[in-house]
Amino acid sequence: MGPGPSDVSPRVLAALARPTVGHLDPAFQALMEEIKAALALVMKAPGYACLPLPAPGTAGMEAAMMNLLEPGDTAVIAVNGQFGERMADMAARAGASVERFEQAWGTPVDPARLEPMLKERRPKLVALVHAETSTGVLTDPKPICDLARAAGALTVVDCVTSLGGVDVDAAGWGADVVYSGTQKCLSAPPGLAPFAMSPRALEAVSARREKVRNWLLDMSLIMAYWGGQGGRTYHHTAPINALYGLHEALVALLEEGLDVAHARHRRMHEALVAGVEAAGLKLLVAPEHRLPELNTVLVPDGVDEAKVRAHMLARYDLEIGAGLGPLKGRIWRIGLMGASATPWHVRLCLTALCDALAAQNYPDASRQALAAAEAKLSG
Ligand SMILES: *Cc1c(COP(=O)(O)O)cnc(C)c1O
Repeated sequence: MGPGPSDVSPRVLAALARPTVGHLDPAFQALMEEIKAALALVMKAPGYACLPLPAPGTAGMEAAMMNLLEPGDTAVIAVNGQFGERMADMAARAGASVERFEQAWGTPVDPARLEPMLKERRPKLVALVHAETSTGVLTDPKPICDLARAAGALTVVDCVTSLGGVDVDAAGWGADVVYSGTQKCLSAPPGLAPFAMSPRALEAVSARREKVRNWLLDMSLIMAYWGGQGGRTYHHTAPINALYGLHEALVALLEEGLDVAHARHRRMHEALVAGVEAAGLKLLVAPEHRLPELNTVLVPDGVDEAKVRAHMLARYDLEIGAGLGPLKGRIWRIGLMGASATPWHVRLCLTALCDALAAQNYPDASRQALAAAEAKLSG
């Protein structure tokens, strides 16, 4: 129950164990078509080029930056946590001149503050993180995509932690690139990056002055394999079994229904928060900006945060995450992602956390915490 990987369900594990076929086998090509169609549904990206890149979520970020940026371009990157930092680094490596739009860790990106920078700089690209896993903050991409488009920019939205947990609406936002990862709310093993590119973004790739400086993730090459046009020629050997797992995870999500899955994440979040607060703990993020699937709990004074995590792992086999960067030592990061967003997980986590705190002479509040969570779970 950290920031990913989340639990992988038995049906996805079983799918991963199916016999490996060739990456040009007609049966496998049919599966690829189903994955593309399912990705367009879950990312709400009709008319976009949708495919899973053969590497973890970071590959989605890398593909976005490397395909859309060239030396001499300007990119505005919103930085309100660790993953915004990573995007800014990548955009600079793509040769772009990077303007960082800084926002305090623990708060969302504020479009009103961003607008003057976009008007002045008129960048080629604007990038932001929808669900900042380092802080537990959700930013609404819609107003930022609107402002970016008005300034003539393409938009990149990191949806690694949001997809499957909260609504991702690529077309509704007007985002040009949306990417995700498999090991967060999709609950498949790490190793693939669902990726969607708008027609506008594809045009920008075709209009490049120079070749993409990354062969594996060059969209014009990868599309010849995944796009179906051009006879599906060999580009790389697709990670066949990982794709079986992603396919099954997408089927499971669509069977549950996107809205139902999002409501489940929200209910589990509300139960966990009620329990944590009943135990006298506080959250980092203001209620209206909280991410249901990643809860950042402040470490109380006098408590050794690493000992709490070690106790939970040793006694309960349960892993939660630590803080990163400026939040190191100050917060715990508790994931309620995909198959790990169940009442059982909420109860286990509160039990383990309260026990670990009591072991450090923090008042034992497990009964109050569980009762508060139960009231939300049965409500
Ligand atoms: C986890 C994460 C990534 C990176 O994904 P990997 O699969 O670890 O490469 C990128 N952005 C966000 C917001 C994430 O939470």
